[in-house]
Amino acid sequence: MKFVRVVAMNVFCLIIAASCNGQQADSTLLKQAIPYAAGITPAAIRSKLEVIAGPQMEGRETATRGQQKAADYIVRQFREAGLQPGANGQWEQFYEMYADTLLAGIIRVRDKNYYFGQDFITDLYDSQAETIDADHIQYVGYGLHSGRFNDYAGLDVKGKVVLVREGVPGGVPREWGNSYNKLAAAREAGVKALLVISPHAKNYSLLSKERIRRTGIYMPGEKSTAPNMYFITPAMAADLLGKPYDDSLFDNRNKNLRIPVHVRVPIHIQLDKKSNVYRPSNILGYLAGTDKKEEVVFVTAHYDHLGISDGQLYPGADDDGSGTSAVIEIATAFAKAKAAGHGPRRSMVFMLFSGEEKGLLGSGYYISHPVYPLSNSVADLNIDMIGRIDPAHERDTNYIYIIGDNKLSSELRPLNEMANGLTRFKLDYKYNDPNDPEDFYRRSDHYKFAQRGIPVIFYFNGTHADYHQPGDTVDKINFSLLARRAQLVYYTAWLIANRDDRLSVDRDER
Ligand SMILES: [Zn+2]
Repeated sequence: MKFVRVVAMNVFCLIIAASCNGQQADSTLLKQAIPYAAGITPAAIRSKLEVIAGPQMEGRETATRGQQKAADYIVRQFREAGLQPGANGQWEQFYEMYADTLLAGIIRVRDKNYYFGQDFITDLYDSQAETIDADHIQYVGYGLHSGRFNDYAGLDVKGKVVLVREGVPGGVPREWGNSYNKLAAAREAGVKALLVISPHAKNYSLLSKERIRRTGIYMPGEKSTAPNMYFITPAMAADLLGKPYDDSLFDNRNKNLRIPVHVRVPIHIQLDKKSNVYRPSNILGYLAGTDKKEEVVFVTAHYDHLGISDGQLYPGADDDGSGTSAVIEIATAFAKAKAAGHGPRRSMVFMLFSGEEKGLLGSGYYISHPVYPLSNSVADLNIDMIGRIDPAHERDTNYIYIIGDNKLSSELRPLNEMANGLTRFKLDYKYNDPNDPEDFYRRSDHYKFAQRGIPVIFYFNGTHADYHQPGDTVDKINFSLLARRAQLVYYTAWLIANRDDRLSVDRDER
């Protein structure tokens, strides 16, 4: 009976459309997925999210105790779900990050000391530790070298300490005077250290001492060859030049400063800092496929958030506790299906990134240190914020933004739309527009996969008033929406993992 029906259907399909076979096979696959989707419930997701966005996780900032606690919790959930450790036998893929703290920051001129955070400041991240002893300072006005304009023309400042003022003279484009351009001009001229007279510098003593003495965490990158840039107060600058300070000293109309000014004076600069090493992680849970085991389908979210700042907890319930909880439940559903004899044909990797809020660092690390060959990585379905409603959908809340689905594979949108036949959302493609100013396509972890030519879908509810605020709390989550959105991701992942043909890559919009 069954056999006859299939034959009849195939004959029918041959007559009406060439693609009918595939669609028929896909809809059969989807039906097999339904019993296990029933476990992706509002209550199950709530129980995870209440822990992940709870106060004991301290806002899950990357490279903090809260992030490690969240990692431990997620690993327990993956293990209980029946997944295998997915990072070469480990649950976590660790990567190194750094944060620098100031040890010493002092400039001494004519036996007078000037202090970091009071008389001058420098960006600890951009600046290298250095000790400089020189016997003179060269003042070169604005320190510009753009177009035909060159304050360094005819001057030998190689290896010297140079003093410049902020901004640009009248009639010159303002952007010539930004820090980046001044630093580039100084580097080109071979300057050893650049002192910039900043009218704002007198406010440095008001800044948080704690904040300015440490960098944020960062990944080791290429070390800059630019000289350090020290922003100093106008009063300190007047001292260096041996002039009495008043507001008009650096006024444009003051003709007393004949440029260049060469001041013979011993100057000692000491900047010392220490790098602290941190080891945050991405968490990988693995479910082996059956006959297409080598091919891997990723379902991802990020588990880090903003931590605690100025005594305020940023719980990140929507961002991205919602995605983290959803990935755990989707993984659980796939593992249950496998235990019941419906394991995925392709392997599944459920991955939770850290470092997202710091600039997609965890996913960036993964993609440059992949555990599974990128050539066998079939797709990444990434979830970042699916538990809330944005202002544009307050009347019709039955929606989800779909981003990136049509950029690399023409087959992905039809599959996601077929999966949505079971969840019945209005799929909003607004942010898929390459000209959209928000540029969400490039703003979460999936983009690292897309850049490598791996098809992606980014599932997203849009932003709202609590985005990146302490008010992103669990009580504002719409759990029935969240669970159904998670089911959509689950069904789409099921189709990608179980179809005969691997998802094609036939487009290239990165
Ligand atoms: Zn965020």
